[in-house]
Amino acid sequence: MRRGSAERELAERWELETEAKAKAAAEQVGVDAGAAGEPERKAGEEQPKAPAPEQPRAAEEGDAGVSPRPPPALPQDRPKPALARGPGQHGKPRSKGRSCKRSCGRLPDECGALRPVTVDSSKAKTSLDALKISIRQLKWKEFPFGRRLPCDIYWHGVSFHDNNIFSGQVNKFPGMTEMVRKITLSRAVRIMQSLFPQEYNFYPRSWILPDEFQLFVAQVQMVKEGDPSWKPTFIVKPDGGCQGDGIYLIKDPTDARLAGTLQSRPAVVQEYMCKPLLIDKLKFDIRLYVLLKSLDPLEIYIAKDGLSRFCTEPYQEPSAQNLHHVFMHLTNYSLNIHSGNFIHSDSTSTGSKRTFSSILCRLSSKGVDIKKVWSDIISLVIKTVIALTPELKVFYQSDIPTGRPGPTCFQILGFDILLMKNLKPVLLEVNANPSMRIEHEQELSPGVFENVPSVVDEEVKVAVIRDTLRLMDPLRKKRDSQCQHLALARREEPADGEQTGAPDSNTNPEAHLPSICLKQVFPKYAKQFNYLRLVDRMANLFIRFLGIKGTMKLGPTGFRTFIRNCKLSGSSLSMAAVDILYIDITRRWNSMALDQRDSGMCLQAFVEAFFFLAQRKFKLLPLHEQVASLIDLCEYHLSLLDEKRLASSRGGPHPQGGPPGADSPQPAGGNPPPRTCGANRLGHPRHALS
Ligand code: ADP
Repeated sequence: MRRGSAERELAERWELETEAKAKAAAEQVGVDAGAAGEPERKAGEEQPKAPAPEQPRAAEEGDAGVSPRPPPALPQDRPKPALARGPGQHGKPRSKGRSCKRSCGRLPDECGALRPVTVDSSKAKTSLDALKISIRQLKWKEFPFGRRLPCDIYWHGVSFHDNNIFSGQVNKFPGMTEMVRKITLSRAVRIMQSLFPQEYNFYPRSWILPDEFQLFVAQVQMVKEGDPSWKPTFIVKPDGGCQGDGIYLIKDPTDARLAGTLQSRPAVVQEYMCKPLLIDKLKFDIRLYVLLKSLDPLEIYIAKDGLSRFCTEPYQEPSAQNLHHVFMHLTNYSLNIHSGNFIHSDSTSTGSKRTFSSILCRLSSKGVDIKKVWSDIISLVIKTVIALTPELKVFYQSDIPTGRPGPTCFQILGFDILLMKNLKPVLLEVNANPSMRIEHEQELSPGVFENVPSVVDEEVKVAVIRDTLRLMDPLRKKRDSQCQHLALARREEPADGEQTGAPDSNTNPEAHLPSICLKQVFPKYAKQFNYLRLVDRMANLFIRFLGIKGTMKLGPTGFRTFIRNCKLSGSSLSMAAVDILYIDITRRWNSMALDQRDSGMCLQAFVEAFFFLAQRKFKLLPLHEQVASLIDLCEYHLSLLDEKRLASSRGGPHPQGGPPGADSPQPAGGNPPPRTCGANRLGHPRHALS
């Protein structure tokens, strides 16, 4: 019930814009049912999704042809085609308006004009072209070879690690690449599924191989016995793989290739979603760009447009005859580009790669409720990020401990989503390094290759990078207040025949840019989703007891201190039992870990121990309420402890108050204190479960 109304609300608030955009696009492209499918066969080149760090920059992605570009399909909200880099647009000096002269006696550029934002692009790798265009559009300053002085923003093509950054902002979070690997993502979502099965049913049922092979076989067998008509297909995906590498479909669990590679390269096996929405009889997926602007407090933005990548062989439900047809079942661009049926197009609404808005526009013209589609997608994105943030926080405090100099982080993520026939979105995977290439290599004649721009990639990706930079602009506030001052000054003293107060390039340096394509979804919709953030609160407890800065695993002493400070031990849970719990769970998790260098209890092991303690203490409640009650209890005792410490450090009396029995080891009857307590020590408000 909550889900339905929350998503409706999301839809109503945001999708109006999308719909307007889709309608405008429809008018532009003249949507009709057959418009997308005219074959224009051209073969292209393979594109690594997450490019290897030291690869030379070679064109890899895109589906553009070589002919001159048409105007963009969605012009009302977009910049001029970015590769048409006319100097007039970007290099123009500001006009020296009289208004500023009058208000401060100087020319506008001298009138407290802010320095340009500086961007270090020396490690941008394959995103360099799109980044350069974005910086030029913003009139910022690029340092392509780095800079001895600190820059405002560091743009990394691959991962976070760079020990020489002590300030500014970097476009990667520590640990993100590890977090979105297939196994880690599946584990993170599974924890959420155990707490909130309905809310997290957008992720296919998954098992980790080889560890959970027996469980996989047994569970499938059990479901089949209950429902003999169930004829599932499964997809096996190697961990850390990309571009469809090593992926295969099976009908019978025992067909998973356990020998050889699985031992050295674990995999995720997933229920294959066999009823995707088809367009022109083809399966397609959606790549959406999501900006994680901040981890704490959580801030999430979604790009209004993304890409749709098409298969190149008409879809049929999986059967023994077609299981191995990759062009029918896998939507990866890097695979399908090798198909003779791949269609490069200069239009954003036709061919084997299109804008998502062109798909929405087409669906809208057929009467589909695209508001609902968008709201379901927003909900999927927020819930997925909520599943990822707890462990990301652990990585973050380990790489950039509080109090030490370091950059702040943001990151663009690529969400791969499948729309089902019933229009329900399903999460396929999250990419920490989504390709930002805006050109691709095309074979003009046998053996002769040329880099050609890709209209669709450029249209979507340049907007995403440019607007991410705009949102991260460290001078934004100053710039905005300066604009307001200038606008006010002009309004107060209008010159003859001059428009007053209207934003122009004198008062608004972004006047030449379209509105920001990234829309905030969190905290905007925090109220509807905060109740899901239980593991996040567990991570806060975990981090508090980690002890030494820079670690990611909890030692036995830390765990004992957690139990003591939260007053969880007593006659029914001795400290000896606590030690056994720690050893049992930690040992099991460490035997499954890919990286076994560190000993100690990882976050997932802590979560398992926490679930165990919660189930023991609050027997009759559903799991999420048991867990929420235990978190409340822990936070309550820790806040009391903090208050006591604060009072004794000030030499004053111990604070009184709190719920009756607050000083006793546990509230009477084992019930948690009321959930209405204020923010906890970690600055996180308590979220009531409704
Ligand atoms: P990779 O990182 O190698 O691209 P993905 O998880 O994205 O791996 O899977 C590759 C492709 O396989 C997807 O783009 C999608 O077309 C298809 N696919 C993946 N998982 C499923 C699934 N559970 N059901 C249906 N199709 C899937």
